[in-house]
Amino acid sequence: MAEWAAAAGSVDQVLLASPRSFCAGVERAIAVVDQALRRHGPPIYVRKQIVHNARVVADLQARGAVFVDELDEVPDGSLTIFSAHGVAPAVRREAADRHLPVIDATCPLVTKVHAEARRFAGRGDTVLLIGHAGHEETEGTLGEAPERIRLVPDAAAAETVQVTDPSRVSYLVQTTLAVDEAAGIVDTLRQRFPALTGPGSDDICYATTNRQGAITAVAERADVVLVVGSTNSSNSRRLVEVAERADARSHLVDDVGGVDLRWLAGATTVGVTAGASAPPGLVDELVAALTALGAREVSEHTTTVEDVSFTLPKEVRQP
Ligand code: SF4
Repeated sequence: MAEWAAAAGSVDQVLLASPRSFCAGVERAIAVVDQALRRHGPPIYVRKQIVHNARVVADLQARGAVFVDELDEVPDGSLTIFSAHGVAPAVRREAADRHLPVIDATCPLVTKVHAEARRFAGRGDTVLLIGHAGHEETEGTLGEAPERIRLVPDAAAAETVQVTDPSRVSYLVQTTLAVDEAAGIVDTLRQRFPALTGPGSDDICYATTNRQGAITAVAERADVVLVVGSTNSSNSRRLVEVAERADARSHLVDDVGGVDLRWLAGATTVGVTAGASAPPGLVDELVAALTALGAREVSEHTTTVEDVSFTLPKEVRQP
């Protein structure tokens, strides 16, 4: 009660970062599962979480989607969906060998990074993949040429990573990294390997870049920032870090139930954003709770207007 009173007494303003929440790749991936369930009925098997968000996964599970870690959990002949994060060629081969009917919900911007990996490795480069170990996206990209791609997870690794031939080195970046951090790592690699080449256009996707830009602007004016997203969501976790670098105390919450009222004590302005995999409805619930706590003003701070959309795979496209 005392915590509630302290929070209620201070919060005056909610600043919503825009853009926030779903990106085009996540909307497409969720629509793939939705359409597959409508057309074929449950069960539909999905390799890995379709997107990294607990609410999205729970909602689809309730409708008959079955999330599995690997294809050996999928019964023969069952319709199988690959998640937005992409898969290694070995996974595609396994599905083909088993004649599984597959719909690929890989985000087209992840597919672009895979194509670059094949191109760079194919011309004989050592490819330095800047990304997080164990993340499904990096595992998929590494699988394009495991013998030629080396993972560079952080700035320390950029100082020590070894390459076969320093005149033939290229880099790629996981789509959901922090823009500023990745730029620093690329600088380090370029100093060590002056012949380093990179992708024609940035690998960090438009949605990651835009959400980080928007929360930076909001964090500069907020006492506390709340990021809606799941703990396994890379882009959501980066939003927390980016807001902290802009000097706002920052917390990741799956939904409004995850907010610790002690975080809000003494905070006048609360910044709010959501990772690219977090549904907009979860932000609405959080804003409603902040308003109930006494926030008088809810305003939106827009840094970019997005108009990106991706067509659905042919298997689930409307005729
Ligand atoms: Fe695609 Fe970027 Fe969204 Fe990932 S965050 S699904 S790469 S648009």
